[in-house]
Amino acid sequence: MGCSTILVFLTLLSFASAHRKLLLFLLDGFRFDYIDDAELESLPGFRDIIGMGVKVDYMTPDFPSLSYPNYYTLMTGRHCEVHQMIGNYMWDPKTNVSFDIGVNKESLLPLWWNGSEPLWVTMTKEKKNVFMYYWPGCEVEILGVRPSYCREYFSVPTDQNFADAISDALEALRNGSAEMAAVYYERIDVEGHHYGPWSEQRKSALKELDKAMSNMITQIKNKGLQHDVNVLLFSDHGMTDISWTDKVIELKNYINMSDTIQMKDRGPVVSLWPVPEKHTEIYQKLKAVEHMNVYNIQDIPERFFYKKGKFVSPLTLVAEEGWFIVEVRAGTSCPSGRTAQGRGRPGRTAGMATTTS
Ligand SMILES: [Zn+2]
Repeated sequence: MGCSTILVFLTLLSFASAHRKLLLFLLDGFRFDYIDDAELESLPGFRDIIGMGVKVDYMTPDFPSLSYPNYYTLMTGRHCEVHQMIGNYMWDPKTNVSFDIGVNKESLLPLWWNGSEPLWVTMTKEKKNVFMYYWPGCEVEILGVRPSYCREYFSVPTDQNFADAISDALEALRNGSAEMAAVYYERIDVEGHHYGPWSEQRKSALKELDKAMSNMITQIKNKGLQHDVNVLLFSDHGMTDISWTDKVIELKNYINMSDTIQMKDRGPVVSLWPVPEKHTEIYQKLKAVEHMNVYNIQDIPERFFYKKGKFVSPLTLVAEEGWFIVEVRAGTSCPSGRTAQGRGRPGRTAGMATTTS
């Protein structure tokens, strides 16, 4: 009956010579301890990568530790309140337009993406070609720019899609079409959400990913790219177990939802727009709810680097670790998929970097 959901981060960095090309991986939901020393024994691909480069113990996600905010933090080098991608779900009251985890058409409007310049835009402006594979947002025109090539994301790219993307990316780097290639990988996140961070399904996805890494190293060597390419792997967030049976906060038990205009997302962080004249009443009622905090914008901790974001709602609800906030618990199904991210331990994501020489 119990479902578990988790968030994690993994990152591989590479210390490059300035002239090398870059192959970049975003491994969604890869918790920092999926590749601790014991696990590495059974992961020859990752072991080889780390042996040729460097691995960090963990990375600290930006708040909120969810996908889109951290995709963009990683690629812009800015906090959420600067780059403006403050959630997987956002709402702009001025235009009544929503961003719904990248799947609705309006998610592709530059309005959500133009807050800061991602690396691929910077490179493209410098006349360096960037090829992107399944990378969320690569199809968006950001600050008037698109990458040279974008293989658009769909739900969910398979291991074969991933293997093909790596081969195509390496070939683009080899033949000079691209100076940077970026590949997004989702399966670790998907299995983690459905079955939990320590499930056999998640572990089996990691084994498949490890094989892809071994194949990548072989291809790099076969193409003679050992001294021409750096490889960097990182993840957006971690993951933690939740209990769908007894650690759920149902907002309808505390407030009248008709006193709100809009609610975005569910899970560890929820954005709420109360009817203005009900704001104080809603705040007071939510203040009394256990296992979560409610913040007025001005009271959001500075250390979140969040509150100055222009899409931040009048009230932000933040659950204690392991708790899940919903409007109403619907049926008995477990939360799953990209919409059900839990909060990772604030400050734990893994990272590695390697050159391939
Ligand atoms: Zn994610």
